[in-house]
Amino acid sequence: MIIKNNWLYTDLGNAKVENYPALYHGWSGRVFDPRYIIVHYTAGSQISSTINWFAFTPRKYGQTSAHIAIGEDGRVVQFVAFNDFAWHAGAKWNGLTNMNWYSIGIELVNVGFLRSGFPIPQERQLSAVHPNEKTARVWETYPQAQVDALIEVGRLLRKAYPSIVDVLGHSDVAPGSSLDPGPAFPMEQVRHDIFSITPPPTTLPWKQAITEWARTRGYDGPDPE
Ligand SMILES: [Zn+2]
Repeated sequence: MIIKNNWLYTDLGNAKVENYPALYHGWSGRVFDPRYIIVHYTAGSQISSTINWFAFTPRKYGQTSAHIAIGEDGRVVQFVAFNDFAWHAGAKWNGLTNMNWYSIGIELVNVGFLRSGFPIPQERQLSAVHPNEKTARVWETYPQAQVDALIEVGRLLRKAYPSIVDVLGHSDVAPGSSLDPGPAFPMEQVRHDIFSITPPPTTLPWKQAITEWARTRGYDGPDPE
């Protein structure tokens, strides 16, 4: 993939990757100023549901969108141009008034945590305590193809928009209302692979989030506490 005119294109640059313009996006009177990538999970298992919701479901409430979604198989779909606002993280954070003004939103197709109506195959289950919670839940791990696609897109974004300096989870900026992308998401590896950031583990809640899955992939990291 490459980025051209704020959209993802195939390697040769002759065709956009799959895209469905979002119904809800933009912000009048402001210039988009992307500084972060914010990672979400969809809380579902089908990318088709995400496409339907963002591009084909007119609604009065919950008018959300993200710049892209990535399927479990690494399928990448774009909904909003990278020089425009997607509506995915309206929280205030770190002195910034509205994170939609400062971030690229990426949805990963993932159930999140095990609950009624949202089964997770045994081999994809990870029991872990979310850094913002006290007790463990069973989380769905992220397949390598999906993480690889995220890293590829993240590196393209970093190169195309040098103002982007870090990747955050939705729950980092909205700790009271969001759990995504959850402790099964290999945040440290993704930050490292996109931005060459290796933060001191002692200051990061993600220290608790290094997963069995990550370790079986051969990733180094601190042991969970
Ligand atoms: Zn989210």
